Amino acid sequence: MTKPRIIVIGGGIGGLFATNALLKHGCAVSIYEQAPALGEIGAGVYITPNSVRHMERVGLGDAVRSWGAPVGDKSYYFRHDGAPIAPVQVTDSSGWAANYGMHRADIVNFLAAGIPDGVVHCGHRAIEFAQDEQGARVKFSNGVIAEADVVIAADGIHSNLGPYVSPPSKPVFHGTIAYRGLVSADRLPDWPMDRWEMWVGPSKHFLVFPVRHGTMVNYVGFVPTDEQMKESWSAPGDPNTLRAEFEGWDPRIGAVLSHVDQCFRWALYDREPLPTWTNQRLALLGDAAHPMLPHLGQGANQAIEDGMALATILSESADILGALRIYEKLRRQRVAEIQLGARLNGLRVDSMSGYSDLKKRDEELAAHADFRAHLYAYDVVPFAKAALRTA
Ligand code: FAD
Repeated sequence: MTKPRIIVIGGGIGGLFATNALLKHGCAVSIYEQAPALGEIGAGVYITPNSVRHMERVGLGDAVRSWGAPVGDKSYYFRHDGAPIAPVQVTDSSGWAANYGMHRADIVNFLAAGIPDGVVHCGHRAIEFAQDEQGARVKFSNGVIAEADVVIAADGIHSNLGPYVSPPSKPVFHGTIAYRGLVSADRLPDWPMDRWEMWVGPSKHFLVFPVRHGTMVNYVGFVPTDEQMKESWSAPGDPNTLRAEFEGWDPRIGAVLSHVDQCFRWALYDREPLPTWTNQRLALLGDAAHPMLPHLGQGANQAIEDGMALATILSESADILGALRIYEKLRRQRVAEIQLGARLNGLRVDSMSGYSDLKKRDEELAAHADFRAHLYAYDVVPFAKAALRTA
């Protein structure tokens, strides 16, 4: 069977993982990124067993273990004053522990390192898409036109190619901004580097986990805002404003924030689940298909599941258009549930917005362990193979 020629647009975590997975499955791939070089801002991302199993499959398990900081079973939810609420689920339902805090730059670097020379084309901003029975074409702002059998748009929440698939929809602002950044572990010598910890309080929450094999502490402070801030990953935040937001909370938070010299501000947006993810030879992946709130820590993990599903299906199907329809059918419903689940969990952790009964909120956080165990246990590969068999 001739494998399809594939173009991936966007060199973020989603596009880079998909490229690794497609290469591993013997496909001919080129990836195009608008930025002059691949890279990421200084912040953390939490990766969970449902994506780590695919990193293992494409040969990146050692990179995950050497760059990640393993997160173990002392992970906990606290009330804002430090009173313990409940443990955080850190294994899948089989008991497999593969949760890691990662520096975003590290994950992008090792995903890029797995790709041979000549496959990645930086400085290419996709602006137009066209297709017919012979193939698909992407035009870039530098005038280059690339041709392939399949185009995967992994170009993020503001996807330029998204409107070729689904009617344009506005990102939904959730009235929250996240202050995020990293503190060197040297400055917090007593900080436990083996756990994920979250403090939840009136309309705000604060999250800490280790990254880069435990040499840095990643923090995120979520606070309400009336300001309709343009969402950006790299807008600078004011450390003093951040400290003031968490004044009077557990002194352990103050200990982290006392070392913050610079941080980023990020406005929380998602979209309603899209009605469709594919248009013949074009498929959406990652945030282009399903931008979600970070309250389940699943945006990147779901992008990785998308990439593994696509590679499995495309490499085993002679019918390209049919393969993309199978991908969409397999992924759209699962991810829509996670997008909506992230909104619901946001109401829990920003307690006063939806949960005036704190005891009920605490019980729900404790009961959430079961949801996470099943979320993490999901393996998209057997589902993709079953979908191929029944198609
Ligand atoms: P992006 O990362 O947005 O990458 C898109 C890429 O496409 C970019 O490199 C961009 O430059 C490029 N691009 C855009 N337009 C074009 C174009 N026209 N032509 C060519 N290239 C283009 N997820 C988790 O799983 N766990 C977490 O703990 C977690 N925490 C998060 C915390 C924060 C504060 C944030 C902001 C997000 C978090 N996420 C988390 C979400 C996760 O980071 C995203 O869902 C994930 O990075 C999406 O990857 P992507 O590749 O689809 O999109």
